[in-house]
Amino acid sequence: MKKSIYLDHNSTTPLRPEVLEAAFPYLRELYGNASSIHEKGREAREAVEKARETVASFLGTKPNTILFTSGGTEANNFAIKGIGFRNKTKGNHIISTRIEHPCVLDTCKFMESQGFEVTLLPVDREGRISVEDLKHAITDRTILVSIMHANNEVGTIQPIAELAKVAKERGVYFHTDAVQSFGKIPVDVEDLGVDLLSVSAHKLYGPKGVGCLYVRKDVRILPHQHGGHHERGLRAGTENVAGIVGLGKAVSLARQEMEKRTQHLRALQEKFYEGILKRIDDVLLNGHPTERIPGTVNLGFKDVEGESMAINLDLKGICVSTGSACTAGSLEPSHVLVAMGVPQEYARGTVRFSLGHENTQEEMDYCLTEIPKIVKRLREMVTKPSH
Ligand SMILES: *Cc1c(COP(=O)(O)O)cnc(C)c1O
Repeated sequence: MKKSIYLDHNSTTPLRPEVLEAAFPYLRELYGNASSIHEKGREAREAVEKARETVASFLGTKPNTILFTSGGTEANNFAIKGIGFRNKTKGNHIISTRIEHPCVLDTCKFMESQGFEVTLLPVDREGRISVEDLKHAITDRTILVSIMHANNEVGTIQPIAELAKVAKERGVYFHTDAVQSFGKIPVDVEDLGVDLLSVSAHKLYGPKGVGCLYVRKDVRILPHQHGGHHERGLRAGTENVAGIVGLGKAVSLARQEMEKRTQHLRALQEKFYEGILKRIDDVLLNGHPTERIPGTVNLGFKDVEGESMAINLDLKGICVSTGSACTAGSLEPSHVLVAMGVPQEYARGTVRFSLGHENTQEEMDYCLTEIPKIVKRLREMVTKPSH
């Protein structure tokens, strides 16, 4: 079989064998509906509630603040629509940022079509939001601020605690999309001071199609799906028991291993970045040099096409993304790089290497032999006259 080196963990992660093992019985003999009163139902209910406790505990909160969803996209939709429509008599202004995941940006666009006003905050060259900018953006009509904890493309971490404090002082709800930070750096809802927070299982070695939304006690939110009493009447639908059990297992593994994973990732990425700089000229690291989640190395190679890079890397068995997975296929620089003001000649040649804890030094060494060859070849093609 062709060698495959997976460096696209910000798009999704491989399922951990322990997660599959924990979830599998709930697809087989433990098939009960968690709402049924009989034994089969009680087994499922117990498993769901145990997972809720695991997730809540790692987030530093109580189980009754966790609502299971079908993933990060639904959690973000739930938060923005649920708070927005619930509070529309109080105000119609929502603040977010120019670098959010498309599922936040598109939800904000939808809210505009429903009579809301949206302000998208800018970022600096390293992808950070300014606390001052947020202070100035809040008005008497503002009801919600939604700012991601860590960016999926460049990995920059926002000063959420400071930003949330500003919102709180003005009596405005604060939501954060923590899909990329949860499991990689400490995420505690009390330390961060947030009212709502989104999580997705498949970004931390859990299954796809499951996640959760944290909603602070006493924060009133509109139901997201109607039809039953599930998830405190806020998200109707028979629970994805196996998925939820998988999320719980993925979270407990992340909790046990976070420090070890971080050390390994930091060592891998530092050597990788240094190796690239040693072998290739005109490379730019996009994102914050230090305030960045472990594993994300977003590099702009001057005068090459990111797409060509990704295709050539794929031929060598190396899986990466250009910009973000959701905008792949379009040759425009991603909205994140544009917002950061990355020079065009670097932005076009951007490749996101997102490492995982199962990647090895040998794999990275192989990349360091292949990447310079590819860059050299692509650059020669650009500079060579066509006839
Ligand atoms: C992947 C991702 C999402 C979407 O999560 P899904 O579970 O895939 O719907 C949202 N926000 C960020 C930052 C992400 O990286």
